[in-house]
Amino acid sequence: MSGLNKIDKLLIANRGEIACRIIKTAKLLGIKTVAVYSDADVNALHVKMADEAVRLGPAPSRESYLKAELIIAAAIKLNVNAIHPGYGFLSENSQFCRLCEQHNIIFVGPPIGAIEAMGSKSAAKHIMEQAGVPLVPGYHGDEQSPELLKKHADEMGYPVLLKAAAGGGGKGMRQVTQSQEFYAALDAAKREAMSGFGDDIMLVEKYLTQPRHVEIQVFCDNHKNGVYLFERDCSVQRRHQKVIEEAPAPGMTEELRQQMGQAALTAAQAIGYVGAGTVEFLLDSDNQFFFMEMNTRLQVEHPITEMITGQDLVEWQLRVADGETLPLQQDQLELNGHAFEARIYAEDPNNQFLPSTGILSRLMPPAEHDNVRVDTGVLQGDEVSPYYDPMIAKLIVWDQNREKALTKLAQALSRYQVDGVTTNIDFLYNLATHPAFKQAQLSTHFIEQHETDLFVSDGPQRELLTPLAVTYLLLQRQATTLAAQKQTLALGSPWDQHNHWRMNEQFREVLSVEIQQHTIEVSVEYLSCPHTSKEVIKVTTAEGCFECTGNLEGNHFEACINNQHLHVTLQAHQGFTTLFTHEYAIQCKLNGPDLGLSDADDHHGGFEAPMNGTIVSQVVEVNSAVEKGQTLMVMEAMKMEHAIKAPKAGVVKEFYFAAGDLVDGGAVLLDFEAEE
Ligand code: ADP
Repeated sequence: MSGLNKIDKLLIANRGEIACRIIKTAKLLGIKTVAVYSDADVNALHVKMADEAVRLGPAPSRESYLKAELIIAAAIKLNVNAIHPGYGFLSENSQFCRLCEQHNIIFVGPPIGAIEAMGSKSAAKHIMEQAGVPLVPGYHGDEQSPELLKKHADEMGYPVLLKAAAGGGGKGMRQVTQSQEFYAALDAAKREAMSGFGDDIMLVEKYLTQPRHVEIQVFCDNHKNGVYLFERDCSVQRRHQKVIEEAPAPGMTEELRQQMGQAALTAAQAIGYVGAGTVEFLLDSDNQFFFMEMNTRLQVEHPITEMITGQDLVEWQLRVADGETLPLQQDQLELNGHAFEARIYAEDPNNQFLPSTGILSRLMPPAEHDNVRVDTGVLQGDEVSPYYDPMIAKLIVWDQNREKALTKLAQALSRYQVDGVTTNIDFLYNLATHPAFKQAQLSTHFIEQHETDLFVSDGPQRELLTPLAVTYLLLQRQATTLAAQKQTLALGSPWDQHNHWRMNEQFREVLSVEIQQHTIEVSVEYLSCPHTSKEVIKVTTAEGCFECTGNLEGNHFEACINNQHLHVTLQAHQGFTTLFTHEYAIQCKLNGPDLGLSDADDHHGGFEAPMNGTIVSQVVEVNSAVEKGQTLMVMEAMKMEHAIKAPKAGVVKEFYFAAGDLVDGGAVLLDFEAEE
């Protein structure tokens, strides 16, 4: 028996991370679980996690996850007594809800009437208007002649926003900045709405220029209780889709929180709401808030509310669906700390966020501990198919305050390793580390406003990586050779010296180098600079010719590649060196004869953290003998692990950091005493 009265077998009518998320809580409550899947998902994680699984049909969702009758048939066959719809697919489909009711299956969600009341944006606005919930000024009537719509827009003053009454996901929306553009925009919005939702009824709203999107999580039970679990700020959006969400909303006052919470509850109660719901508001710069819409389901971003309240919202949903009263009352709910969620997507931000499909040949999320949570539905080796939303995971972090949580988010993003598909991880990192985001200068136009910083075009920048690595490798080789010469040559004749000097010609060579696990050949030529007597290295790669100079000092390398100056931090490990630029970590090695680059010569492999990172482990015991080259400590920085090694035999007298500690670049990690 499960811990609930009625629900003991739950079918999850969804896939991916949300199906896995729901299964986890169901298991904790002792509820048996049934997954459904399409042919594309035979081996998917949600299928593996559930106690039983039923095939629905071919990959396209309209032939599988949207087939209400097939889902109901599976539920009946397996004696399921409740269905959780997740989000998307059938979650806000009142017809599906009705089918559940007809077959005596509990639908884990609101009543049919509530879904229907919120199904149309214009009908929802009427209800909210009557309930006294503040609305964005606008027209949401049935009369739809273009002339009348335009008359309302003209009266309201531009800019206005046209919205499809049946819309969702930002489709069927058009901003109109002036009267002359109105009809053309209306035609376009109607066409989009018709093809997207089969309905082209339009709303005209005042367009707020710098609003924030702040939404309230509400919960109601069947016993007339209702609470709000505070707010989430989802202002950072691209094309009206959320990118990074946070809770609580920065700058929120206790008074405003209460007002918005109460307004949201009024909205929910106006439609007899039961279960988890979200009331979305636009918040103006002068703290006026306006009802936008209510989502009658669990939201993608619900985990940040879970992090700040310490509650499991799926458990709440199941308990409420089972007939229990809400687990907590309003005055028992506490808001604690700050949480962020970043949506990790297989998509290309530099190509209009086009979805990217393929096999996830590498999938290494950051470790889940210390309030870092990864909600995912895929494993390494799985495919991101073109059939469904290409979200790979949700990365959720929590800390005591916004600043700390944001640092944690950036660090976790920098450790997220995905290969096989293009992802938005670098873009999210740029967002999370942007000064304006750090200062919480939020609005729904954040991404457009900071476009130039966020979309770092990686074309020319990436081209520089190979010449940068080659320059470093050559300078390093030269330094090693010189050091060896100093020891062995007493007085040198030019013929004995192993530098690049040749009578009457520049010296050329072809090198084999390993860069990011690829072996490539590059041609190099040594020239001397007419202005400085400094040696210039001309590196020719498949991408072009680059003139390079550099200075190597300790674990710092300063380079100039085709007049672009770069500062690099170095870390040596197992014959490779990693070059850390501001944005990239490049692992490289020079192939060919061993030129004496032994561990002992690793002058830049010291006990300093190469850059900000996290300690993974202390590998040896304090005060116990270690051999030369033995790994003492492992740290992780910029998506890679780095071994800190003993330069000689000796002992570690003290570790200054423990596993899980965050360290700043340059911090001394340990105290080492070499053997006499
Ligand atoms: P959808 O259901 O298609 O997602 P919403 O009504 O929820 O549409 O609006 C999505 C987003 O569009 C909001 O989060 C906000 O960024 C923007 N938006 C909506 N209404 C307005 C408005 N009146 N003024 C400015 N921006 C708006």
